[in-house]
Amino acid sequence: MITMSENRLSCEEVVKQLFAYLDADLDETTSAHIHQHLETCRACCSRLEFERTLRTRIQESGTRQAPERLQRRIRKILDRY
Ligand SMILES: [Zn+2]
Repeated sequence: MITMSENRLSCEEVVKQLFAYLDADLDETTSAHIHQHLETCRACCSRLEFERTLRTRIQESGTRQAPERLQRRIRKILDRY
């Protein structure tokens, strides 16, 4: 594995902050680093798309909060990586 930038985040770190990223809850620097990672990492990029679609769907269904069971299931999926 080649590290090209000293600011490069690992996938693990990106995943950990993905929700905050979606919520625009991160400071500019962190957000930029994640954005940078997402542009080069297909795995995290599709993960982001997955989360985004999921959120849209939840919002469309009229509930702002994801059902607890669903959230637990998402956590389980994320834990696998
Ligand atoms: Zn990644």
